[in-house]
Amino acid sequence: MKIIDTHAHYCDSWFTAPETPEQPYEEILDGLLGPDGTLDAIVNVATTPDNAPTCIAQAGRWAGMYAAIGIHPCDCQLYDDLVAELERLRPWLDEAKRHKIVAIGEIGLDYHYPDTDREKQRAVFLAQMELAGEYGLPVILHSRDATGDCVDLIRQYPDVRGVFHAYGGSVETAEELVRMGWYLGLGGVITFQTAKRIRRVAAALPLERILLETDCPYTAPEPFRGQRNHSGLLYRTAEELAMLQGREIEEIIGRTSENAHDFFNFF
Ligand SMILES: [Zn+2]
Repeated sequence: MKIIDTHAHYCDSWFTAPETPEQPYEEILDGLLGPDGTLDAIVNVATTPDNAPTCIAQAGRWAGMYAAIGIHPCDCQLYDDLVAELERLRPWLDEAKRHKIVAIGEIGLDYHYPDTDREKQRAVFLAQMELAGEYGLPVILHSRDATGDCVDLIRQYPDVRGVFHAYGGSVETAEELVRMGWYLGLGGVITFQTAKRIRRVAAALPLERILLETDCPYTAPEPFRGQRNHSGLLYRTAEELAMLQGREIEEIIGRTSENAHDFFNFF
C-alpha cells in the first residue's frame, strides 16, 4: 500500500514561483505519483477563490491528485464581499467530479492574531459548512487557538463529515470528533521533539481515524524542518507515528491510506 498525502498546497507560491531555487514541483510530482512513485494520492488544497483555478488545474494534471476548494479563515480579511466570494465557488462545485473536487477546504477559525475579525471568520465558516451539506462533500478544517468554537460549530452540522487538519486538541476532544464521524489529520509537527503535548496526543489517537498530511510547502518534518516541504517527505511523519504508537510503519501507511479512501471517496 502506498502513502496518501491528504493535505498539500501545490498552488502556494513557494511551489509555483518561477524563481524558486528548489527542484520544480512538477518534477517531484511526476516521480512521486508516477508508476514507480511512493504516493497513492494527494489532496491539493486551495485557500481562496483566486487560487482555486490553479489548484484544480494541478489536480487535472496527475491521475493521483485531487482538489479541495474553500476560503481559509486567515484569507477572509482579503475580501470585503464574502458572500460574492463564496458564490464564486459554486460553478466548480456544480461540476465537482469533473474538477476532481473531493472536499471543501480549507475552512475554519484562526484566532492566532489578535486583530482578526472573528465574527467574519465564523460567518464564512458557517456558510461553507452549509455548502458542504448542500453538495454532499466532506470538509477540511483549519483551527488555530479556536478548538472550542470549532467543535461547537461542527456539532450544529451532524450530517457534515470532516477532517480536523493538523490536530492539536486533547484526546477527549478527539474522541468526541470521532463519535461525530470526523477524522484527525497529523503532519510534520509530530516529528518535532519540542511538540511534547501533540506527540503524546498522537500516540493515543485511534489509528482508524488518522489521516496523514504534509501541509506542504510548510511544516517539513525533522530532519528537514524549515525547508520547503513536499509529499515525498510524508514517510518521516509515518515513521514517527509508527514509533509513537508502537506499530510497524506498514500498518500505519496501510491503515491511514484506507482511511483516506473511506473519507474522500477518491474516484
Ligand atoms: Zn493547509
